[in-house]
Order: sequence, then structure tokens, then C-alpha cells
Amino acid sequence: MDIKFDSVADGEGVRSVVFTAGCPHFCRGCHNPKSWNINNGEEMDINEIVERLEYAGHKKVTISGGDPFFQSNALSGLVKELRERDYDIWVYTGYTFDELKNMGSQDVDSILASINALVDGRFVESLKCPLIQYRGSSNQKILHLKDGLICKTS
Ligand code: SF4
Repeated sequence: MDIKFDSVADGEGVRSVVFTAGCPHFCRGCHNPKSWNINNGEEMDINEIVERLEYAGHKKVTISGGDPFFQSNALSGLVKELRERDYDIWVYTGYTFDELKNMGSQDVDSILASINALVDGRFVESLKCPLIQYRGSSNQKILHLKDGLICKTS
């Protein structure tokens, strides 16, 4: 959908943010319903995304949506490229960590093994809270990952 730079609201520190198109969750009160339809996005290949991110001059990136796991094969390729360049990678998703693990997908497992943090869970309007950092509703968690294992939750 877009790439934004210098965000302080999408994870720790100053980060670039890649917003992907396509989402199967249809949360009531979603901040960006236009992102549900993958056809609303602009097609961009992995090299082009990485090239644009490199202009930011730092190594912090967040991949949000939509739900980035809607394109898990492409996401896996992007994460691999960013990992090789030593990026700190956060990924937002409407799936829970357990739902992702239960998919039995090689792409999904490889993404989880390569990222630094997953912000998981659908947006629940009745649990919306502006005081929670980096999340929209109180059911969502920040899972800090190391080699695909949760090492800290907040
Ligand atoms: S997961 Fe995110 S993008 Fe998808 S419907 Fe829910 S709030 Fe919207």
C-alpha cells in the first residue's frame, strides 16, 4: 500500500514502515479498511522495497498492513533480504502467534525465525485503548522473538 519513513508509532525507535495490501480479518473499526483488498495496493518487488528502505539510513523496519501474512511467500523473501542486511524487523499481524505456528507453513515458520518482534492479534474495538504503546487494543501483544521462540512478551 505504501512505505513510510521516520515513524515512532510502529515499534521501538525511529522506523521505516512497509504497509502491505490484503487482509482476511475484517476487524470492526479497522484503521485502514482499504488495505483489505490486495488489488488496492501498488505492485512492488522485493528489490524495489529494499532499495527504498536503504535510503532511510538506519536498520529498523516494521512490516504492517493489511496483514503481511496474507502474502506469506513474498513476506518470507522480503524478511530474508532484510535479515541479510541486519535489519531489526517487526511484523504486525491479525493472527495470533499460535495460529501462525499451527499453519504448518514453511514460509510462516521461516518468517517467525527471522524477525525480532511480532505484534499479534486482531483489533478488537471494545478493547481499544490509546494508552497502550504500539498496539490498538489490549488483546494484542508484542512478542520479542529469537530464532522463532518467544523470549519476552509485553
Ligand atoms: S488485521 Fe489489521 S488491517 Fe486487518 S482488518 Fe484487522 S485491523 Fe484491519
